[in-house]
Amino acid sequence: MTVIDRIETWRLPKLLVVRVTDSDGAQGWGQTAARAADVTQAALHTLVVPVALGQRADPLHVTEVVWNAEYKMRGTFLARALTGVETALWDLAGRRAGQPVWRLLGGEAPRDIPLYISRRTRKTTPQAEIDGIHAEIAAGGYRGIKVQIGDRLGRGPEGPPGRSEALVDALRAAFPDHRLSADANGGYAAIEAIKIGRRMEAQGFHHFEEPCPFDDLAGTKAVADALDLTVSGGEQDNDMGKFERMASGGVVDILQCDLAYCGGATRTLAVARLARTHGLPFMPHSPTMSMLQVFALHVLTALPPSGEMHEWRGASDREPWAEELYAPLPAANNGLTRAVAGPGWGITVNIDRLRRAEREVFDRRSKVKG
Ligand SMILES: [Mg+2]
Repeated sequence: MTVIDRIETWRLPKLLVVRVTDSDGAQGWGQTAARAADVTQAALHTLVVPVALGQRADPLHVTEVVWNAEYKMRGTFLARALTGVETALWDLAGRRAGQPVWRLLGGEAPRDIPLYISRRTRKTTPQAEIDGIHAEIAAGGYRGIKVQIGDRLGRGPEGPPGRSEALVDALRAAFPDHRLSADANGGYAAIEAIKIGRRMEAQGFHHFEEPCPFDDLAGTKAVADALDLTVSGGEQDNDMGKFERMASGGVVDILQCDLAYCGGATRTLAVARLARTHGLPFMPHSPTMSMLQVFALHVLTALPPSGEMHEWRGASDREPWAEELYAPLPAANNGLTRAVAGPGWGITVNIDRLRRAEREVFDRRSKVKG
């Protein structure tokens, strides 16, 4: 097997684009999660590059050696930085094999993935929210809807008073046939979450995401125990021990993780395996249209259908920078999408769009920045 010869990073305002080159000159592209690109870049350059250069160009191997070599630094920034290199290595492996990444991850055939439209605001009135959802559904044909309720981590009101309760009631009346979900982003204490959860149950909601702060496992479990509604969580996490406690301890009914927060496709599949071991559906979190959504769709294609719909940002929530940088990005059609066909992730990066980004190059032979 070839080894990693070069790692390049381009820093965009919110995230890093990463390219890995192996000792045969084969290349693959990856990306990190949005937010704190400068800190992620420092973590990638300081923690991941020195370990990864010269290693076998194998995402499973590099995941293991980086996570173990930098065990004292485990946490979100090591996971975010690892994701950039790990996803580039899957792309490289897929391109070398002439196969889509989903096949390398164990998938057998491409399939349609049902989508829910995921709303990203708490500031709207219920009526404005319903109007916005109607417009999204007219464009994308989604059969599921997720709205935001509560106040993120209980940090204080972001929207009109009484919005959450009114929205839960109004949503069912406006969309009698859709699968309804709500995401509190950790907004409630358990007792309050159960209260609004009962209201959601009365309206036939399907799923309640992060009812309590993500580190409040006891509170989240109390909500999952009290409600018939399925409770999900895990999108903030990167610790396999915590995922295990969530899955084995009845904390959630649906286990989630975000590929770019937990360290890449290898670790995401490990979380999916944990879910399967404990008889839970697995539902990745996928916040933005970019390579992040591309990665999530490949992982979903590699897994058996869970019965859950996949998170999708609609036409009102576009990412123009990603549309200019990557092609072809996945599209929604009649409420369904598919993983982009390979090889690799199937994405061509328009390198001209990276010209203004700060680029750094690390080469195995020189062991110094190029
Ligand atoms: Mg969420």
